[in-house]
Amino acid sequence: MNISRVFLRKIPLILIVILVIIIVFPLLFISIASRIITYLSTPSDLKKAKKLGEKLAETRNSQIIVVVAHPDDVDWYAGGTLGRLHQNNNKITVVLGTSGEKGNNSTPNLGKIREEEQKEAGRILGYDEIIFLRFPDRGLQPDNKFKEELRKIFAKRKPDILFTFDIEKEGYIYHHSDHRAAGKAALEIVKEFEGIKKIYLFHSSAANVIFDISKTVDLKTNALNAHKSLASNTISRIFGFLPSFTRSNTRRYMYNSNPQIEKKTGIKYAEFFREEK
Ligand SMILES: [Zn+2]
Repeated sequence: MNISRVFLRKIPLILIVILVIIIVFPLLFISIASRIITYLSTPSDLKKAKKLGEKLAETRNSQIIVVVAHPDDVDWYAGGTLGRLHQNNNKITVVLGTSGEKGNNSTPNLGKIREEEQKEAGRILGYDEIIFLRFPDRGLQPDNKFKEELRKIFAKRKPDILFTFDIEKEGYIYHHSDHRAAGKAALEIVKEFEGIKKIYLFHSSAANVIFDISKTVDLKTNALNAHKSLASNTISRIFGFLPSFTRSNTRRYMYNSNPQIEKKTGIKYAEFFREEK
């Protein structure tokens, strides 16, 4: 028996090993990671968190300002909540520090494209105004220039409620310096505006609010789908052929869809925040 024949007989085994390494391991990792992150991000006192969420849902006729870094941040972290608050006659202004022109691919004019996608997502969820400050993507700084722009916007809109990134108790995975810069700049000027009665922080590791987004979950999905330029990234390309698997894990991760939470609170889809004030 020569060596090449032995090798030929082993090809199926080699293929199976390769398949396991490139497909099964990453899928298993995504599945486990999404479960762990949801578990860690879930407020510990579910009853109290549900009450705080219901209180937020009763908010009416308020000025809400959201400060984020990139197109899609607001929809991803708070789209379901804001969509519902829009239905209660609240006025929602979203401020983006950058237009995300670096994104995750090298499409020409990506910043302009992403601004249009954010406007479309805003139409779906009912944001009243979207302001692009166009500071450099992956270079956003919580400096005076950024804070001065925010001051002008806050002074004009006189917000009652602020939504932004949690920087003190930052959430798990995906730490982005632009997100920190947006949260830091907004939270540093907040004390100058006494009208702000409540602050809701997203991407938090110490969330204490569960907001039921079951009524706006489809709007949120449509808004996220409006960010088409992001869909051409590597992960979607690799796992795009497994729609139901990715969908169930995405739902678990993006909508905090978790049978345990549902059992204890009756909430199927949620967004989590840390209430600051
Ligand atoms: Zn972002």
